[in-house]
Amino acid sequence: MKRVFFTDFDGTVTRTDTCAAMVEAFAADGWQEINEMWERKELSTEECANRIFRLFNACLEDVRKLVETVEMDGSFKDFLAFCRRRGYRVFVLSDGYDFNIELIFKKYGIDVPYYANRMVYDGGFRIECPYNSPDCGNCGTCKKRLMEELREPEEQVIYIGDGYSDTCPAAHADLVFAKGTLYKYCREKGIPVMPFNSFRDIMETVEKL
Ligand SMILES: [Mg+2]
Ligand SMILES: [Zn+2]
Repeated sequence: MKRVFFTDFDGTVTRTDTCAAMVEAFAADGWQEINEMWERKELSTEECANRIFRLFNACLEDVRKLVETVEMDGSFKDFLAFCRRRGYRVFVLSDGYDFNIELIFKKYGIDVPYYANRMVYDGGFRIECPYNSPDCGNCGTCKKRLMEELREPEEQVIYIGDGYSDTCPAAHADLVFAKGTLYKYCREKGIPVMPFNSFRDIMETVEKL
């Protein structure tokens, strides 16, 4: 069977969320309320990120050092090899930052196509959202839009994720692997979902499909 995997990055490919780590380390108080508004979809990713960036006390080098300490799921590399052998396509869709993804992929020698927001630094930080969608208005990177554009007919679409930015694409996939907030959301909404902890679990499940 032809398959395509779309996977979230932060907290899914990585063990912890690089964006959350940045905010916790560098943003002054006040970010919590802004983040809660984003979780309730009262703020778009773009607005939320730019407001929180205004509370930042850090330079690009500080962010680099912090992000480089974040660990990747040890089985993600094997998962990519597994997909390559079977001809499954894999895309990373992230509502986080290109800068962080580049750093982690370089650290672990990963080469996989990804779509994410751009993090711009010119003395202060700013987000740019080249993959947003006018019909959506919430996401910085609209994963649902990208999934619809990238999928090919006859491919089974499998979505993998853990958080708020994954709820929308999850409802449009053929199959979902989830943990954390996304798992709870899928159970509440009656979206068929399989729990996972690492990409090893996903390989084992897909082998039996
Ligand atoms: Mg995530
Ligand atoms: Zn969207």
